[in-house]
Amino acid sequence: MAGIYLHIPFCNSKCIYCGFYSVVNREIREKFVPALRREISLRRNFFDTLPREQRSIKTLYIGGGTPSVLPASTLAEIVTLLKENFSFPDSFEFTVEVNPDDITKEYAEALKNLGINRVSMGVQSFEDSHLRWMARRHNAKQAEEAFAILRDAGFENISADLIFGFPLLSMAQWESNLKKLISLSPEHISAYQLSIDENTALERLASRGDFIPSDEAACSLQYAMLQSILKEAGYEQYEISNFAKRGFYSRHNSGYWERNPYLGLGPGAHSFIGNKREWNFNSVEDYCREDLYEIRQGESLTERDIYNETLMLGLRKSEGVAIAKLLKSCKSAPLFFEESQDVFKRYLSTGILIKEDGKIKIPPGKFFVSDGIIRDLFV
Ligand code: SF4
Repeated sequence: MAGIYLHIPFCNSKCIYCGFYSVVNREIREKFVPALRREISLRRNFFDTLPREQRSIKTLYIGGGTPSVLPASTLAEIVTLLKENFSFPDSFEFTVEVNPDDITKEYAEALKNLGINRVSMGVQSFEDSHLRWMARRHNAKQAEEAFAILRDAGFENISADLIFGFPLLSMAQWESNLKKLISLSPEHISAYQLSIDENTALERLASRGDFIPSDEAACSLQYAMLQSILKEAGYEQYEISNFAKRGFYSRHNSGYWERNPYLGLGPGAHSFIGNKREWNFNSVEDYCREDLYEIRQGESLTERDIYNETLMLGLRKSEGVAIAKLLKSCKSAPLFFEESQDVFKRYLSTGILIKEDGKIKIPPGKFFVSDGIIRDLFV
């Protein structure tokens, strides 16, 4: 199963915490589609090295940045371009990321007419004071309205993102954010702990002492609240940060966690095939230069990289990693697995890991500290 990710590197303004590559320069936007056309013409045979049965593209994800800052007519051009160059089955998961302030009735209907069947919306909080602090462009009312507009336009698969773990967010507000979101009944919810990413406004605030992050204990309580409220509301936690109603797991992101091949298009996008990873440079200016074809770099993963990646991506999922899959991940995997038996045994005996149905998993109660657990298991 293969996927395509398209990175739209434009935002109308930058949120303080955001480490994703995007620019606010509007002039360059008109050069993007011709540049994408050039990249696609170079990459249209990307999946040809795969066995025929694995070449079918099952998911298309247009993310960013903010794809919804582009007019619907530009998105239509992009979709036509993709469909002319890649073969999609009759039904495939087609997601686009949107910001609430871009959603009007006409825009939502246009997205629907493009065949988009899943919308992922950055809500982040239902407290306007939080949204202002994050420098989000929307307010809570706009998020609610956007949700209703998308439903009216016929979207039956909506995902919403929330952020927790920042000092302004009290436990009562977090509970209220979760309950508000549940009342809108999205099919999918992603919740991320605020982190201080490089080259962000938040990093600059933190470096001059104007932002003190929440302590781990407070974040851990909010994470536990997230898990318990969403579970009670019928959402299944299928990955550390992802929850969904049954049947609505993100197929595109699941492809990443399964290490399925994907082609990334657009500045900053990553691709993965065989054991090769490639990434386009973070420069929309260079990407749009007609004479420049050196837009990416790549690396071949070592056996250790492959083993560690299979372990890490598997353990982030609630279902865990299948031991058979881990052992087959590369030639030296049985040796690596043997090397780390002491740690596995220690964690299994203390309940930090569970072994069930041929899989090793982290119990949900330990997800919050999963990074450390996974690091200890790396070879
Ligand atoms: S969070 Fe989204 S809208 Fe905000 S800067 Fe990042 S990509 Fe743009």
